[in-house]
Amino acid sequence: MVRHQPYREIGMTRPDDLPALAEMSARIGADPLLIQGPGGNTSVKDGAVMWIKASGTNLADALTRDVFVPCDLPAMRLAMEKGEARADQPAEFALVQGGLRPSIETSLHAVFPQRVVVHVHCVNTLALAIRRDAGPALAERLGAFRWAMVPYAKPGANLAAQVQAVLTPGMDVIILRNHGLIVAAETVAEAEVLLGAVVTAVTAPALSLHAAAGLAAHADASYDALPDDHPLHTVARTPHLLQAALAGSLYPDHVVFCGVGANALSAQETPISAAARIVAQGLPQPAFLLVPGQGALIHKDANAGAIALVRCLGDVLVRLAEGAVVRPLTDAQNAELLNWDAEKYRQVLNAG
Ligand SMILES: [Zn+2]
Repeated sequence: MVRHQPYREIGMTRPDDLPALAEMSARIGADPLLIQGPGGNTSVKDGAVMWIKASGTNLADALTRDVFVPCDLPAMRLAMEKGEARADQPAEFALVQGGLRPSIETSLHAVFPQRVVVHVHCVNTLALAIRRDAGPALAERLGAFRWAMVPYAKPGANLAAQVQAVLTPGMDVIILRNHGLIVAAETVAEAEVLLGAVVTAVTAPALSLHAAAGLAAHADASYDALPDDHPLHTVARTPHLLQAALAGSLYPDHVVFCGVGANALSAQETPISAAARIVAQGLPQPAFLLVPGQGALIHKDANAGAIALVRCLGDVLVRLAEGAVVRPLTDAQNAELLNWDAEKYRQVLNAG
């Protein structure tokens, strides 16, 4: 349990619409098609102060605990403008010391002129934004919006700078390639309406198959079959989706919580021997394993974040159009995610 210094004592008043932001955050945070585990974040600007979700907290908890922390908005914007390394250390701009740290994606919110910013890892957006032809695929669906897409970059100040570079007056929808969606508006209500409209525009039908009867025989002391209605079974049983899963990591939170890409059990391999093979390569222990044609297994010790991100992979891929080719992260992009202190911090918090 983390305790905050009461904001009243440091002379800071909360914006009138912070409760409305918390309500909206809890609503979207409870939808696994929008937010998984501690992913995603929301913010509201109040003059020189930006209130943003804290790192390692879940939007779903926004009504039951304090998830928002106040940040020094002009100082953060100045550090970004000057290209200072500390722009990537959002804790430096927290206005309450010793409490929760602002989200690692704080800079991403600071670049928007609009008061309210909502960033989600929408699975329907991802099913398009992971494709090699993401630009045209999204353009087909987002014609009614003022939008742009930015290339993949590790979450942080570099990604925020890329967003800033494409923002034009009135633009309020940004697609982060291989990452997610951002909407911005002047009020909480407008942001939620805009989010709903974009999600509707990108929503695709989802394939759904149950696990094959033979899957249970592949479970062992380390890995169990996922629940029967889990979307990753569909992926393991659908050749073009299995191929897409095995192509590599498709977005950053997958790497942080599940390890690099996805792995399939080869013939004669047990889950324990498959995991040992993967660990011997220097990779993290896989949170899940795909059994081609059968379904998917999950590690018995998977934490809440991993469980949420394993479901996310299934939810994204069952919405991938047949014939679409995915564009996975490079090895360098995987590695920089695994060596990242801020993410490790977030993982540790999430494991508690
Ligand atoms: Zn994100």
